[in-house]
Amino acid sequence: MKVAALIVAGGSGSRAGGELPKQYQALFGRPVISWSLGALRAAGVDEVVAVIGEGHEEFFRNATRGGPPPRAVVGGATRTASVRAGLAALGDADVILIHDAARPGLTPKVVRELVAAVQAGAPALAPALPVSDALQRTNGEGCVQEEVERAGLHRVQTPQAFDARILRDAYACADDSIAYTDDLAVVRAIGAPTKLIAGDLRLMKITYPEDLEMLAVMLSDSRITCVGNGIDAHRFGPGAFVTLCGVRVPHDKGLLGHSDADAGWHALVDAILGALGEGDIGAHFPPSDPQWKGADSERFLRHALQLADAAGAKIVHVDVTLVCERPKVGPHREAMRVRTAQVLDLPLDRVSVKATTTERMGFLGREEGLAAYATATLTRPA
Ligand code: MG
Repeated sequence: MKVAALIVAGGSGSRAGGELPKQYQALFGRPVISWSLGALRAAGVDEVVAVIGEGHEEFFRNATRGGPPPRAVVGGATRTASVRAGLAALGDADVILIHDAARPGLTPKVVRELVAAVQAGAPALAPALPVSDALQRTNGEGCVQEEVERAGLHRVQTPQAFDARILRDAYACADDSIAYTDDLAVVRAIGAPTKLIAGDLRLMKITYPEDLEMLAVMLSDSRITCVGNGIDAHRFGPGAFVTLCGVRVPHDKGLLGHSDADAGWHALVDAILGALGEGDIGAHFPPSDPQWKGADSERFLRHALQLADAAGAKIVHVDVTLVCERPKVGPHREAMRVRTAQVLDLPLDRVSVKATTTERMGFLGREEGLAAYATATLTRPA
């Protein structure tokens, strides 16, 4: 069974304030749209296509740096036209989810529940919350004109999930002159039954600036902080430079190792893997595998980042300590921070690179090799 998803991200989002459209604004330092992308990936969705607004290509590229780049198509003038463009770009699938990029509180659990319900025979469904406040209609100037009976009323959220055949049929018949409320409405228009299942407060839609703040409070309650540490050491050998934290440092020796022997980034990869409970670098990149011979350690670091992304985790801060008598790290320390921050896509003040010696004691003091220690702090769904 193949599951595909469309993320509709075409809105200009002017009501949410800020310079960027709301789907590209930061939530815990990560663009709103990337939260949903991570949740869909973590839930095992096979294919994801984003429908973006015209002129938003660069926003989208910036928002999806680091992970595997999802496909994006430019939407149309109406929501119906945008979903049509997205459906045309999606390959064959059995289940299609359509999600609003302005709802970053998506969890893999919601995605799995929706997919399971479609698999069990539901043609179309969405998460929703029953309305609990009293509903009253005003004349637009605050004067109440009537009370609206709230029994049976729901606030409908996304993602909405569909039997792919029924959804495609419905969009083939959709009338472009009708402004459908959502995708369930498009399916209902061809007479297919639509159903609501229990929604989640965290799936709230970001419309106003305070929505982003409220969601941040809700999500921080449901996230945990994990700290991982990593240690690595490499032996000196013949050579004219060493590579540390992605920076080539001239030296009268080189470092021996199967890859580029970047002990700083190796320790950092192990720290990130540690916080994720994902084993160690050797398990992901076995030294016995010839494809990692001489490999640039940036590949290992990017792999750790992708694992973090797939788990819905976010790296908050990293700290690397290099231990050696020589080469002197000080003159290169800032370049190492900058390189590491670039790859991790973190602000510079969340990346620390330090150096120390062992006062000439032990194997490091005798300059037989060089060691690195790293700590990574991540937040992830509880
Ligand atoms: Mg190593």
